Amino acid sequence: MDPFVAGLPKCELHLHIEGTLEPELKLELARRNGVELPYGTVEEARDAYRFDSLSSFLVGYYESMAVLRTEPDFYDLALAYLARAAAQNVRYAEIFFDPQAHTARGVPFDVVIRGLRRALLDGERLHGVRAQLILCFLRDQSAEFAMATLLESLPYREWIVGVGLDSDERGNPPEKFAAVFARARREGYLLTMHCDVDQENSTAHIRQCLDVIGVDRIDHGVNALDDPELAAEIGRRGLALTVCPVSNGFVTDGPKADVIRRMLDLGLRVTINSDDPAYFRAYVAENLDVVRRELDLTRDELVRLERNAFEAAWLPRAAKDAYLAELETYAGASRAVGAKKGEDA
Ligand SMILES: [Zn+2]
Repeated sequence: MDPFVAGLPKCELHLHIEGTLEPELKLELARRNGVELPYGTVEEARDAYRFDSLSSFLVGYYESMAVLRTEPDFYDLALAYLARAAAQNVRYAEIFFDPQAHTARGVPFDVVIRGLRRALLDGERLHGVRAQLILCFLRDQSAEFAMATLLESLPYREWIVGVGLDSDERGNPPEKFAAVFARARREGYLLTMHCDVDQENSTAHIRQCLDVIGVDRIDHGVNALDDPELAAEIGRRGLALTVCPVSNGFVTDGPKADVIRRMLDLGLRVTINSDDPAYFRAYVAENLDVVRRELDLTRDELVRLERNAFEAAWLPRAAKDAYLAELETYAGASRAVGAKKGEDA
């Protein structure tokens, strides 16, 4: 790991809390809850995290969630992520959660969100990482189920900053959820949606995100560059794209570093994120380091990726400015060290 990347103050905007379930915690939760798993060791559990496509990934992903049952389970899951994030100098994170994946198997919404909320409060106190929650709807479920989940979330409105859309995109276009997202907007939630990589009708779906849904952000969205007019519109609106290179490498033909380069060159607000780090075995620092190596990024370009992320964060202006100042201080100190080394040489 490049030391500059390791120390860089980071902002993560595309992270599924269920995707941070490391094999060690999975086994511990299975024991705690008396859930039978088809393996007994950490190595076997890690080996089970194998897939070569989005659909094979999703099968294992939902299977793993069976160990999450109680409020302390969700608390432990989120607090473990925040401790890891703090160790990588993540300063702020926006965390997706999939309530339908839990309520559908009998775990109440209240249990899920209370566990996560308590972890976020303790994460900030114990580890100094601020975080907010984004409720994701499962797009391969019905729009009615999504609407019911949205209504279920309303008593917890103050604990959730926005809503998103994830799971399998094939045959599940953004417009399927137009009424759900319109209602979410009226309730004061900010809006984002997954636009998965190299899926069928990808650019048409991104266009729907802009014109039908009116998103505030796009998750992934790598295929936007297939259509220059679409890319230009994303630029005009200043929409951030939460790109996840290591995840892309698992479920498509590679980390799409060349697309990240073109996004930077076009001045788009591209950000680097980890998606499901326990499954892809790369947290946000490792993702940044992959892009750094693939594109031979300069320190200024790495700083720019994090500046993009803090600018795109769903935070009040003053909070963003405080993080941006911290980032500039880090960058300035590194430039000063570089200049001193130049003098010495
Ligand atoms: Zn994702």
